[in-house]
Amino acid sequence: MSVASATTAEKLVDRFGRVVDYVRISVTDRCDFRCVYCMEPDTKFVPRPQVLSLEELALISRAFVELGVHKIRLTGGEPLVRRNVVKLMEDIAGLPGLRELVITTNGSQLQRLAGDLKSAGVKRLNVSLDSLDPERFRQITRGGKLEQVLAGIDTARAVGFERIKINSVILKHRNHEEVVPLVRYAAERGLDISFIEEMPLGVIDDHDRAETYYSSDEIRRDLAPHFTLLPTAETTGGPSRYFRLVEHGTRVGFISPHSHNFCDNCNRVRLTVEGRLLLCLGQEHSVDLRCVVREHPGDIERVKQAIRDSMAIKPKGHEFTLTEQPVIFRHMNATGG
Ligand code: SAM
Ligand code: SF4
Repeated sequence: MSVASATTAEKLVDRFGRVVDYVRISVTDRCDFRCVYCMEPDTKFVPRPQVLSLEELALISRAFVELGVHKIRLTGGEPLVRRNVVKLMEDIAGLPGLRELVITTNGSQLQRLAGDLKSAGVKRLNVSLDSLDPERFRQITRGGKLEQVLAGIDTARAVGFERIKINSVILKHRNHEEVVPLVRYAAERGLDISFIEEMPLGVIDDHDRAETYYSSDEIRRDLAPHFTLLPTAETTGGPSRYFRLVEHGTRVGFISPHSHNFCDNCNRVRLTVEGRLLLCLGQEHSVDLRCVVREHPGDIERVKQAIRDSMAIKPKGHEFTLTEQPVIFRHMNATGG
């Protein structure tokens, strides 16, 4: 067996026998929106010297792929506001062994960049969209322009990605009455959609998370009179549970950290833009990969060893609770949601 094929055969396995084959990489904690559930209006961002360079991000990505990771998601903050991010995408998409490079975006830059993303090798896009009402959209995102995002989604559809999925965080009395229009919007355009229960990451002043909690089961109940949802065993390698709309074939997913814990099947880790490898979204167990890449520039073996070693501290699961203050003080934009 060649060295290359021996390397690609390696797998990352944690103490609980879970194989980690998916990494979500935050390429920036900065964003042009300030969504009410994600960050505060006056959020302080990571000072630039502490931010991983594109070369460091590419090296760490290669290390993961050589360790058996076959799916990488670039996220943030808003990944498309990072300068030259398309070059990073090209580098990652070309890694032998990687099956899928996917992006999560707020859609604000898609009109400009969708074609470049496709050419760079991005297969699938997740676009966040919580409301189809311009004023409500502006309020939830604290300044986002709905028409810009909808035009971005149209551009992405025209470019022809394998799949585009809408992500909607649903908050009671904020946008919960939009679940039917949002599914219609997705279905009419051949898009998939996932509904996300808000997670208690970071302290936010905007609302009380227990009061705005709207469960996946409530959403399914709201959809039931309008659509026939058939459960499926389909997975895209993430935490969504999927249903198919009999009427359209659209997939409707539910990401339900509170009502349907997904930790048993966890296959993923996250890298913050500071190079902190987070072993769990809802815990602080982490390894400092920036220190490794800066002390030994270009030394991929050291990065790989640090990643292998990190498997020993991957926690069993998150301990999200709605009734107490968050135990996780980092906000989603700093996490790589
Ligand atoms: N800016 C991009 C976007 O909005 O799609 C990518 C980063 S954003 C942090 C990734 C996803 O996390 C988005 O779908 C967003 O709605 C979701 N998100 C942010 N804060 C959240 C929270 N507290 N609970 C659940 N989902 C959250
Ligand atoms: Fe920005 Fe995405 Fe967070 Fe909204 S959810 S503030 S778009 S990073």
